Formats: sequence, C-alpha cells, structure tokens
Amino acid sequence: MQPFKGSFTQQEPIAEKAIEAAVEVLRSGRLHRYNTIGDELGPVAELEKAYAAYQGSKYCLACTSGGYAMATALRALGVVSGEKVLTNAFTLAPVPGAIAAVGAEAVLVEITADLVLNLDDLESKIKAVEPKVLLLSNMRGHLCDMDALMAILDRYGVPLIEDCAHTMGATWNGRKSGSFGLAGCFSTQTYKHMNSGEGGFLTSNDPEFMARAIILSGSYMLYERHGAAPSADVFADIKLDTPNMSGRMDNLRASILLSQLDVLETNIDRWNERHDLIADRLRLCNGVYVPHRPEQERYVGSSFQFLVPEASDEQLCQIVSEAKALGVELKWFGAHAPVGFTSNHQSWRYVEPQDLPKTDAILSGLLDMRIPLTFSLEDCAHVADIIAHVVRQALQKGAA
Ligand SMILES: *Cc1c(COP(=O)(O)O)cnc(C)c1O
Repeated sequence: MQPFKGSFTQQEPIAEKAIEAAVEVLRSGRLHRYNTIGDELGPVAELEKAYAAYQGSKYCLACTSGGYAMATALRALGVVSGEKVLTNAFTLAPVPGAIAAVGAEAVLVEITADLVLNLDDLESKIKAVEPKVLLLSNMRGHLCDMDALMAILDRYGVPLIEDCAHTMGATWNGRKSGSFGLAGCFSTQTYKHMNSGEGGFLTSNDPEFMARAIILSGSYMLYERHGAAPSADVFADIKLDTPNMSGRMDNLRASILLSQLDVLETNIDRWNERHDLIADRLRLCNGVYVPHRPEQERYVGSSFQFLVPEASDEQLCQIVSEAKALGVELKWFGAHAPVGFTSNHQSWRYVEPQDLPKTDAILSGLLDMRIPLTFSLEDCAHVADIIAHVVRQALQKGAA
C-alpha cells in the first residue's frame, strides 16, 4: 500500500478577495469594530448582518470564539453558579469549558452509536436534575432527531442552546442547525467551516436575550452600531444591569470572513463529496460501522467517523498506528489520555465524574478523522483504501 502524503491539518489558503479586504482594513488602521466613520457599518457589523441572513435568524453577534459564544449564551440566559446544564457526553473540551465558565455543573447525557444524543437518557436526566438548559453539541456534525428532541424539551420546558461548531450550514428538514432553540453558537476557528483563525457567532430570535449577549460582549453603549441587533429600546434596562465581559470580534477577522460566507454552500457540497466517497467505501468494509444519517439531515462532511465495535483496545491502537505509518491521521476517542484536540469526559476533571456506560462503550470503538478541502477526491479514495486495509489487518491479527 502506497503511503498517503497529504496533510490532515492543511486548510485551503485565504482567497485573494479576502486578503484584499483584510489589507484594506490594515491600511485604514481601523481594526476595532466601533472605529467607524459616520453611519458606515464597518466589517464586523456587515458580517453580523450577512450571517443573520444566511442563518435565517433575526439577530447575530460576532465574537472572539465559539467557546465565548456558548459561555455568553449561558450567561445571557441567566445560568448562575451551581445550576445544572445538560450536554452530550461526547463532545470537545470547549463545551464543558463554557459550562465551567459560568460556574454551572455539567450533567452529561449518553449518546447512541450514531453519535447523537440518547433521547431516553436525556428525558430521564431532565426528570432527575431539573436542568436550567440543554447545551446540545452537534458533535462532528451529527444531528439527533430534532423533532423528537424539541418535543421532549417543550414537554419539560427546558430551553435549548445549540453548539453548531460542526454544523454551520447544516439543516434538519430544511431548517438551519442553530435555529431550533433559544440560540445557536458557531465557531470560525481555522478547523471549522469558515476560517478567521479564531472567531465565533451567536444567533437568536429573542430580543432581550440578544441585548444581554451584546452588552456582555463588551459593546459599552455602542450597541446601535451592530449589524443584526434588537432595537435600542430593548437595551433600556439591560444596558445598566448587564456586566461587560469583553469578547468582541475585530474588523480584520470580519473582513476575512465576509467573502467566505459567499462560498460556504459550495464548500459544503465539496466536503460532502469527499465525505460520502470515504463513507461509501468504508461501509463495505467488514467489522466497520459507519453512523447512519437520517434523510432529514443535510450534514456538512468536514470530518468522518466510524466505529470498529468488535475491536479490542489493542487492535484499535494498531489501527491508529498503522494508519499513521501510511500517512493517515485517525483519532481514537477511547484513548485513556487526551491527544491533541481530542479528549473524552474522563479527562475533564473539572466536571463531576459521571457514570456513562453506553457512551464509554461507543467511544471505545470510535475513530475520527478530518477531511480538509485541500484533499482531492483521489486523495479521499486513497485514504479510504488505507483505512480499510489497516482495519482488515488488525481484525485478522486478532482472529489469528
Ligand atoms: C471548536 C469547537 C467549539 C468552539 O471552539 P472555539 O475554538 O472556542 O471557537 C465548540 N464545540 C466544539 C464541539 C468544537 O469542536
């Protein structure tokens, strides 16, 4: 088997148009979002307006990161120290981190083999802990049955905040991920669906919630210079009651993001072509389970997950190391120590330890990989063949 030479962390370059826009901001010297002239909006406010329109939400706040958007959403909802916040047991560290940022207690909900929230466990935990909110992480772009989820949350009156770091642009029955509950949180960090190095969005249709989020983000009394904000009267009391916890986006990042929004839909198609090619090949591979994608879901295949449910820890380690030797970077969520960006709930010591047998059983066989758009379709076929080869070898070795 020929080794693969591509890089799993190399994103596409920033387009010339975005570079020109960035250089223009640099030449102007006006990098701060409120450093505007007359009634011009400025790049950050323009971006908020454009992203709200793309998302189909009334309001949008651009901020420093996806993690900041989540913590701000929890604060703007009024989550305080000691309250319970439900979230997926399978997610990445910024999610329990956002819950810790407001002093709340994360209560982790089991997942299914399709990598989405286990709705039965959700319901029993809602009854058991009376949570303030569900911070749903659409982890690795897998959407749970959003209709069934909303029916449960409505029945118990639990609000929803969606972590859409991996579902920017995804839809369920034609409705954008992030628009099902009170708020959607997005990231524009380099490895997500738009790239400004760091950055984030918070979207909502709730005027008081958004007014609090805007003041929290450090708007001072300049909230009228936002691109997709509630009207000034909504801020009347909120502006004096809400503390400033600076996390503003700057004009340089916004200028890079504005033109990326125009190609997001095209990029989603490009990701899915690559993702589906890999998924289709691996679905044919003995011993491999590729999570089911319901037809209501339009996902964004910016990464690929598969399970080798019967493999031992030793065989999974072998799959990871032999794939690596052939140039393919797989992450194993069952690993006992955190590696790179990957960790699991057992290594979040700031979260009360919780018993999650279903999730642990799934994570112990779960492998994950990025699909950068710098990969051609031939690259993806090559990567899929390498994975099939190393899985076959590891399973054979175990059987022998
Ligand atoms: C990347 C990511 C976020 C947001 O991350 P930031 O780096 O703070 O922008 C949130 N949730 C998940 C699951 C992520 O992977």
